[in-house]
Amino acid sequence: MVDYSIDELQPHIGHEVVCVQHGDPGDPDTVTVECHDCDEVLIEARSDRLENA
Ligand SMILES: [Zn+2]
Repeated sequence: MVDYSIDELQPHIGHEVVCVQHGDPGDPDTVTVECHDCDEVLIEARSDRLENA
């Protein structure tokens, strides 16, 4: 688990934060945690498949 600073996440308190997958639904390229209110990606996890490409 990666630590994020208070300053990065505090602005999004009370916002609609969603987890979204991108690419193939059964084997997504990336999964992101995004703030819907700010339209900003907070956390991005990339598939091992991309890292090894
Ligand atoms: Zn926000």
